[in-house]
Amino acid sequence: MKKALIAALIVLTATVAFAGGSKDSGGGQPRIGVAIYKFDDTFMSTVRNAISDAAAGKASAEIVDSQNAQPTQNDQVDNFISKGAKALAINPVDRTAATVIISKAKAANIPVVFFNREPLEADMQSWDKVYYVGAKAEDSGTYQGQIIVDYWKANPAADKNGDGVIQYIMLKGEPGHQDAELRTQYSIQAVKDAGLKVELLAEDTAMWDRPKAVDKMDAFWARFGDKIEVVFCNNDDMALGVIESLRKVGFFSGGKFLPVVGVDATAPALAALAEGTLLGTVLNDGKNQGKATFDLAYAAATGASVSGAGWPLDRGKYVWVPYQKVTKENYKQFQ
Ligand code: BGC
Ligand code: CA
Repeated sequence: MKKALIAALIVLTATVAFAGGSKDSGGGQPRIGVAIYKFDDTFMSTVRNAISDAAAGKASAEIVDSQNAQPTQNDQVDNFISKGAKALAINPVDRTAATVIISKAKAANIPVVFFNREPLEADMQSWDKVYYVGAKAEDSGTYQGQIIVDYWKANPAADKNGDGVIQYIMLKGEPGHQDAELRTQYSIQAVKDAGLKVELLAEDTAMWDRPKAVDKMDAFWARFGDKIEVVFCNNDDMALGVIESLRKVGFFSGGKFLPVVGVDATAPALAALAEGTLLGTVLNDGKNQGKATFDLAYAAATGASVSGAGWPLDRGKYVWVPYQKVTKENYKQFQ
């Protein structure tokens, strides 16, 4: 009786171990667990679609919505691991929470590729199977600043009060996000580097979100009105919200214009460039970020060399997909 039970247990354990540890999901394709910080984010939808396109026919990629909650994402990671994922691709809700995810992945020896939200350096260095795919946020800020510099120099009337200083509003993405912090800093740095003077009227966060940006801009307009000469936004959704707000007070018709810049080059932003409301944006290449994320995760999942996945690896860990400046001169090539 006892022996039979032990024998049955051995069989059961072996079956579970096989199911949990099997290399593929049944169809001969490795399982890859992908978590997106929240599906309801315009830019992340582009990245998500690119990951699922790249995975088609190669891997069984399960893509889940972390609904902007780190505890939810941590549970999703546990779930991927228990289902036998061979690699993880994680867009953290809170980039400082990478520590927790890395320790789970490391305990199960499953490589992890982070994307879009860059873990802290110490976390990146804590294990050799941790990678990051993103873009150099500094560059996007610099390009935004340059777009404003060109506009300012070509349009003396942009200095509405004629004091030789750019009075501006800064609308930030989520505080602490590397893209929010660095775009904010480098956009203004580029303007100063060009020898122009700036005065910050107000800075606030609209959390990457268009409706929030409408509300913030409504309030800024009520407070500063025509003192505002330029509006910098850390992404296009917020820039479109600002434009929506400014329309309500008469801008973008009858020649009334205010320079607003964003980042991402989303489809609606390119449409706004075409109609002449958005002054400029910066291509945040979500398609290639998604593809690189998948390619790295797939190489890691199949035991291939990640450095041979087709993307140059900086310090053996980082893939940087370049940004590109987008204005009315060249937007058509991004549509
Ligand atoms: C994008 C934003 C997006 C954010 C999400 C940034 O790189 O520019 O549009 O909301 O990533 O993490
Ligand atoms: Ca001025």
